[in-house]
Amino acid sequence: MSDLDRAFQRVFDDNEPTDVGSGWWSGAASVFLGSLALAGVACVLFPDWLTTREVRERLPLDWARAILQSAIVLSFILGLISSALRRRKVMGLLGMSMASLASVLGGSGIDFALARHDSPSLGLDWFVLNVLLLAALFVPMERLWPLRPAQSTFRPAWTTDTLYFLTSHLLVQVTTFLILAPAQAAFAAFEGQAWRAAVAGLPFVVQFLLVLFSADLAEYFIHRAFHTVPALWRFHAIHHSSIDMDWLAGSRLHIVDVIVTRAIVVLPLFALGFDQRAVAAYLVFVSFHAVFIHANVRFDLRRAEPWIVTPRFHHWHHAKDREAIDKNFAVHLPWIDRLFGTAYEPAGQWPERYGIEGDPVPADLIPQTLWPISRDRRD
Ligand SMILES: [Zn+2]
Ligand SMILES: [Zn+2]
Repeated sequence: MSDLDRAFQRVFDDNEPTDVGSGWWSGAASVFLGSLALAGVACVLFPDWLTTREVRERLPLDWARAILQSAIVLSFILGLISSALRRRKVMGLLGMSMASLASVLGGSGIDFALARHDSPSLGLDWFVLNVLLLAALFVPMERLWPLRPAQSTFRPAWTTDTLYFLTSHLLVQVTTFLILAPAQAAFAAFEGQAWRAAVAGLPFVVQFLLVLFSADLAEYFIHRAFHTVPALWRFHAIHHSSIDMDWLAGSRLHIVDVIVTRAIVVLPLFALGFDQRAVAAYLVFVSFHAVFIHANVRFDLRRAEPWIVTPRFHHWHHAKDREAIDKNFAVHLPWIDRLFGTAYEPAGQWPERYGIEGDPVPADLIPQTLWPISRDRRD
């Protein structure tokens, strides 16, 4: 359990039941939506600092208003329900307070002042939209079809992984630049080549599959290097330090791991000159699939298993079992591992324990970020 987990527990724990009908879920949802509503209002008040051009250009004003207004209203109603059901009303009252504050600060009535300049900014808008969408999809999925029903949504170190999710979104402009710059520089010379036009002219579906394959082939080799080269493993060990698998666990990635891995993965995409729409479709696919393969879900995906990486395949990549170590490096196409003899997929079974033997990695984000370069690290 991380220090931040303990802090949350001190504020919110009340020894009352947490099952459906106890006012616990409504309280948690009220606090979640209330804090996102506040973050949304902050985006509107300080667009130059907190929003990205990519989101501003794609999200219609009416949609943004509707999302913000719904979050405020829902947060208030859920807070009210929670307060009525629970003796200790800290969650309900906090949720309602945040919703009220968001409303007072302008709510959905705000005239969205467009950002004036394109200086680098934090991607808070991107974080709010993504966490809203992924939580709405995966939290109910993990409650309805759980692999481990006893595992709470707020399992140990959930705050650590939430912070990873937050910081990776806030820093999206910096990391995107660092990820794309090497590929852009390396392949600028290929611009205008006839074979690039031929690749970009292939049918969309063919291009999408080729993008998936070339990206995952690159992922396979860099991921394998992160496991076998000790200097790289220290960074990747952070991702493997999760002892519980769920939709948030996939976010736990060291910033060096993120930048190096993605910079390598985009190399073939730039070199081959795929159409932007095929690459965009791949990015949307990845943002869901990467979360899904970590999720605490038990679906029978036997028919899909030969072709596409499933939660069971990637859960084995995180397993503590000796036979599973340094296996299943592909993140989309499991047959790449079968091709290179690194697949481990015992029929129908799931791992018992996840993480690294001896649990050498600390629990909080900042110690984890410093851990790969610290002296007192135990290898
Ligand atoms: Zn790995
Ligand atoms: Zn993983």
